[in-house]
Amino acid sequence: MEVVLTKQVLVLNRFWQAVNVVGVKRAFSLLVQGHAEVIHQSEGDFQLYDFDQWLDASEFSEDLEQECLHTVRYVIRLPKVIILKFFDRLPIKEVKFHRKNIFDRDDHRCQYCGKHFKESELNLDHVIPRHHGGRTSWENVVASCISCNSRKADRLPHEAGMHLIRKPVQPKWRPFVAVAENKDRNRSWDYFLKPLQGR
Ligand SMILES: [Zn+2]
Repeated sequence: MEVVLTKQVLVLNRFWQAVNVVGVKRAFSLLVQGHAEVIHQSEGDFQLYDFDQWLDASEFSEDLEQECLHTVRYVIRLPKVIILKFFDRLPIKEVKFHRKNIFDRDDHRCQYCGKHFKESELNLDHVIPRHHGGRTSWENVVASCISCNSRKADRLPHEAGMHLIRKPVQPKWRPFVAVAENKDRNRSWDYFLKPLQGR
């Protein structure tokens, strides 16, 4: 029981965004009070369970691999992910447009030659140069290595015979790193920690 109580549970807000990680006790307290429901994936679908439903489901569970909390009165499976019913903090948040976030979006790869570089070896490149009316925006600024940057100079990519390895877009909000790097991160969290793009 000691070990079980140190397990952590991913918490989502009503928009199904990861907002926190809490201990098992806190998770159960939210469930018992009706502030949260368990999200459980079975056969590819996500199902929601309130506390009583989860208790019933635990009783009939045949999956012996599952970790359970044993109390005097019942055996209950540990939820991996819960969703808050009322708490709307951290709604969709825009990723700030600045140098570091552009490098993160581009995975520290030069968007012309595709090679990885350290942050200090990357420049920001206006795909459509400013004097051609190119804007300083997510859609027009990419990471570029110094050599590609100087080769392209003030030209449009096609004028320099260069191509972007992918189309630059504004990244969607992503759960904060603290959640992504949590020690109890497990496979059932993965879906909720992926960037929202493509979901
Ligand atoms: Zn390059």
